[in-house]
Amino acid sequence: AIDTARLKHMFDVIAVAIEADKDRLCQLDGVIGDADHGIAMELGFNAVRDSLERLDLAATEPTVLLNTAAKSFLNAVGASSGPLYATALMRAAAAVKGKAALEGADVIAMFQAMAQGIKDRGKAEIGEKTMIDAWLPAAEAAAAAHAAGSTLAESLDAALAAAERGAEATKDMIAAKGRSSRLGERSLGHIDPGAASAVTVIAAMTKSLA
Ligand code: ADP
Ligand code: MG
Ligand code: MG
Repeated sequence: AIDTARLKHMFDVIAVAIEADKDRLCQLDGVIGDADHGIAMELGFNAVRDSLERLDLAATEPTVLLNTAAKSFLNAVGASSGPLYATALMRAAAAVKGKAALEGADVIAMFQAMAQGIKDRGKAEIGEKTMIDAWLPAAEAAAAAHAAGSTLAESLDAALAAAERGAEATKDMIAAKGRSSRLGERSLGHIDPGAASAVTVIAAMTKSLA
């Protein structure tokens, strides 16, 4: 089972992966946005890492750890990714409320809650060239694989593959939500930065939870 030490480790792995990806994410955002997405994500996950450092993990429930992460992400990030990921993490916290440790089914539920939280907060649909184009298919693939009897590792691998396909597909989409929607058809041909960072986050979750 996944305890708070493993969840903290997951956020460490995400922070390291985002740090390594920061420049690429800023470059992608520079093409169709304001070039700060890598900075925003780095600020957010570094703040999460710092706040979790101060927790007494043995005395902390998973739901409290995830709510702590949500709050610190929200406080650290001024860009639109701030409230989107903060909502994802708050919903993750709600999905595991009352659990001392997470089983595979809880991780799948947490994943789905994150994607749904981003969707509820940002109101983006599939095909509008946002992080939702990576998060929703990833959550659906994880749930489908789990329901079909796959292990957690297999289910998370399926989620990552779906996120990668979804992010790649944003190249052929016209942005309809967020800052890049002002570009209209000029957003065609470029990967959405939020979908790209979603793949990085999901890959880090897959690596650290499987
Ligand atoms: P900002 O645009 O405020 O600078 P960021 O650069 O951090 O914020 O994040 C931009 C990303 O946020 C986009 O690439 C897109 O994936 C995502 N995004 C923007 N608006 C929405 C929305 N309404 N729903 C889901 N995702 C969104
Ligand atoms: Mg930006
Ligand atoms: Mg910005």
